[in-house]
Formats: sequence, structure tokens, C-alpha cells
Amino acid sequence: EAKEGGRNTFRLYMPGSRSFVDHSLLVYDFERALAEREFFLEFQPRVHAETGVITSAEALLRWRHPQRGRVMPGAFIPIAERTGWIVPIGRWVVEEVCRQIREWLDNGQPVVRIAVNVSARQFQRENFVAHITEALEAHQVDPRLLEIELTETAVVEDVESARKKLGRLRDMGITVSIDDFGVGYSSLSFLHQIPVDALKLDRSFIQESGVGGWSVMETIIDLGHRLNLCVVGEGVETECQLALLRDRRCDEVQGFFFSRPVPAADFVRLLAASSIQ
Ligand code: C2E
Ligand code: CA
Ligand code: CA
Ligand code: CA
Repeated sequence: EAKEGGRNTFRLYMPGSRSFVDHSLLVYDFERALAEREFFLEFQPRVHAETGVITSAEALLRWRHPQRGRVMPGAFIPIAERTGWIVPIGRWVVEEVCRQIREWLDNGQPVVRIAVNVSARQFQRENFVAHITEALEAHQVDPRLLEIELTETAVVEDVESARKKLGRLRDMGITVSIDDFGVGYSSLSFLHQIPVDALKLDRSFIQESGVGGWSVMETIIDLGHRLNLCVVGEGVETECQLALLRDRRCDEVQGFFFSRPVPAADFVRLLAASSIQ
């Protein structure tokens, strides 16, 4: 049944269908998606753990697919990474974040730093720093309003080159954080070799109910603080998880307990409400 091409093609284009997706067809879709502006961003607030005030937000990619409807990144980022499409898609994300920040500034709206997810392949490109610089300059955006989130893999494959690139970005005022921290297989030694500002604790440690997850979490928070880094707890869904993170002096938190990722217009409203507290 799975070998029957016609049937699979039909199933691929069923709106809302969760059936098997033909990867080669998605690749043609990427080109059109960029040209037709089918991608858009949502923003999830990150808040100060003690006060709940919004400190920044993470930009998360979404795809308004003409046949499949709303497609989440889990369904297409891995394919984009394998095929190399993540590079132009990732560049679009950086440009769109700069454009959005500029629009907020021009409208006199409150603005916070926006974090962008950068995949290893995108970061390892020779012209990565140049592209970031160009995007900021094109929209006249202060580099202090931009953060990049990298995974351990992006950095450990070539620590020396990562150290140089991150040094240049941080000299400009860009914030750098390590995403999904703790789930990678790397030795921790890369942490004191590369300049970073924050560690984002993977949500598996926070959502794991047993003592195991919590003790790893505590250890990572202590490690981050010893290295003078801001520690961010991800995937906070309950009051209880928040209380535990606060108790362990986690600096900032992010998760459905505060807000799901929301469209730009809704994020502006959250921010306006947060800053008058
Ligand atoms: P991530 O960078 O770890 O982003 C956090 C993910 O956790 C987001 O899923 C977010 O919606 C979800 N999340 C936030 N709070 C909670 C919570 O309290 N509970 C639960 N269960 N989940 C929560 P999303 O938007 O589906 O993104 C999934 C992954 O796709 C991201 O994980 C990131 O690795 C990747 N991604 C998203 N946007 C981009 C992008 O622009 N570029 C690249 N390269 N990757 C992206
Ligand atoms: Ca992230
Ligand atoms: Ca993460
Ligand atoms: Ca992740």
C-alpha cells in the first residue's frame, strides 16, 4: 500500500491529513513557500522567574501550507536540515525578525529582545555573521535586540570557529544562548571555551516528574551560575514546576503556563500588559 505512489500523493494533499509525507514533494514546497511568503513567525514570551515580567521572546517558525494547512516546525525542519533548505529558510527568519522589530519600533510599541533559533548548518556557513549584520543594518535594528539560540551540536563540531563567530556577534551586542541544554552528548568543556550568555534548560528535565530530572536540572542551574550565565527553564506548564524552578534560583522561564507562542499582534498586547505591572 505504501508503495502506491498515486495514493501517497493524494494523501499528502489531504487538508489536515496526518498521513505519511513524501519528502521529495516537500522540497519543491520549500521553494514556493519562500517565494509565496507562506512562512510566518509566532512569539513566545520568556519571563523573569521571580516577577513574571517579560524579558524577551522566542520567534518560532510556522508554515501556512496551501493544501496541508498549518504545519509545525517538527514536521519540516528536519527535512529542511537534510536538504539544505534550512539555510535560506533560516535567513528568512532572521530578516523577518529584524523587519518585525523595526515595525514595532516605528509604531512606537514596546519592544524586547527577540531570540531566533539557528540550526547548525546555518551557523556553520562562512557568511553567517555577515548575513546577521546585513539584516540588522537593513532594518536599523540595535543588535542588543537580537538573540541567537544554538544547540550544542552547532558549536562542538568546530569549537574554534564557533568561538570566533560568537565572539564577533557578542562584540556587536547580540545575545547568545545554548538551546536544549543537557540533552546533547557533548562534554561540558565546550562551555568555558565559547562565549555565551545563557543556557536554556531542556524541557525534558522540567517535565520529568521523578527526582532524576530534577537533580539534573539543579546541577545545570548551579553550573550555569558558576559560569555567570543566565539560566532559562523551558516548557514550564504548571505552577508547581514554576515554584521548583524559582526555589532553585532559575533566572528566567518560558512555557505554556505563561503563554503559548502567539502571533505578533497578540505578543504586542502581552508585552503592553507586562510592562505596566
Ligand atoms: P525549541 O527551540 O526547543 O522551541 C521550543 C518548543 O517548545 C516550541 O515548539 C514551543 O512551542 C514548545 N513549547 C514552549 N513551551 C512549551 C510548554 O510549556 N510545553 C510544551 N510541551 N511545549 C512547549 P515548536 O514551535 O513546535 O518548535 C519546535 C522546534 O522546532 C524548536 O524547538 C526548534 O528546534 C525548531 N524551530 C522552530 N522555529 C525554528 C526556526 O525558525 N529555525 C530553526 N532552525 N528551528 C526552529
Ligand atoms: Ca529554541
Ligand atoms: Ca529548546
Ligand atoms: Ca528542541
